[in-house]
Amino acid sequence: MAVEIEKVPQTMRAAVLFGPQDIRVVEKPVPRPGPGEVLVKVAACAICGTDLKILAHPDFLHSPRLGEFTPGHEYSGTVVAVGETVDEFHIGDRVAVEAHKGCGRCENCVMGLYTACLNYGNVAKGHRTVGMTVDGGFAEYVINHVNTLYKIPDNISFAEATLVTTAGTPIYAIDQSGSLVAGETVAILGPGPIGLMAVQVCRAMGADTIFLTGTRPSRLELGKQMGADVTINVRESDPVEVVMDYTRGRGVDLVLECAGGPDSPDQAVRMAKRGGKVVFVAYYKGPVTLDLNVPVRNNVQMYTIRGEGRRACARALSMMSRGLIHAAPFITHRFPLEAIGEALRTFAEDRDRAIKVVVEP
Ligand SMILES: [Zn+2]
Ligand SMILES: [Zn+2]
Repeated sequence: MAVEIEKVPQTMRAAVLFGPQDIRVVEKPVPRPGPGEVLVKVAACAICGTDLKILAHPDFLHSPRLGEFTPGHEYSGTVVAVGETVDEFHIGDRVAVEAHKGCGRCENCVMGLYTACLNYGNVAKGHRTVGMTVDGGFAEYVINHVNTLYKIPDNISFAEATLVTTAGTPIYAIDQSGSLVAGETVAILGPGPIGLMAVQVCRAMGADTIFLTGTRPSRLELGKQMGADVTINVRESDPVEVVMDYTRGRGVDLVLECAGGPDSPDQAVRMAKRGGKVVFVAYYKGPVTLDLNVPVRNNVQMYTIRGEGRRACARALSMMSRGLIHAAPFITHRFPLEAIGEALRTFAEDRDRAIKVVVEP
């Protein structure tokens, strides 16, 4: 029972996954918020690489619930109903979301590691990942727990606010590595949305030289505009050699591996200075090869992250609002919900230099 309900219809339009590469917009009941939850009317939902994985391999999800499940985890919107006990948000609040809600009862959640919840996927125990284990934002309405919501500052648009997880991920990566970034040299591998946002975050946090590697000249150029000092096209030169030349054989303090390619993990550990740090941020298509002797010999610290924990999304919004990082340049395409197939293809095929494709229900 919701304690505050605005005029919310009984049914809505929502994209539903029916099988591999089979997503259709259908009519579905509008969900009702339970205790601690709110109903969000979605204004914008961005497509992420993870959505393509879900679309291609629904088994990627714990239980794909084919014919019912709605993906989409990078969205923003307006609160239209609140459930029992909710006083953190009110009808009319503009909100951005983060995907992960930990169960709140396992030892990892208690320690603040809610993106690594030990009850991951267990809805009965209170865990949720919107757009993955429960319904997400490629719909007119979606349910969120209050601890996955952040009020959007007035100077941030709904479309920009869909980038909070893109920015929250490198912020969390820096957190987890215990790095300060200020005055440090950083190499960022892969100019995808997360790599480009990582450039902006590191620049804003006072990094010294920032290296950015990639293959697409247009993306590397954009990376330069966003704050990279040295861009390296890995098709033209060996990125490890370039970094070592620039740093006179020292290597960088911090490497953020956001490429997810077959060679990038090995490049990452070879670019780090002795005692430096590497964070593996990307997902990989399959097993990768790296010479583990290199980081062992050099005492390189290696970290992984899952998602955007420790309220990194709230900090991303703060940085956006203060003009330290910019989301607008990422939003290259917008589509209505009915055109979600076209939107997904535009993103998957990199059409017209697509970076972030936003669906607006
Ligand atoms: Zn995502
Ligand atoms: Zn947990």
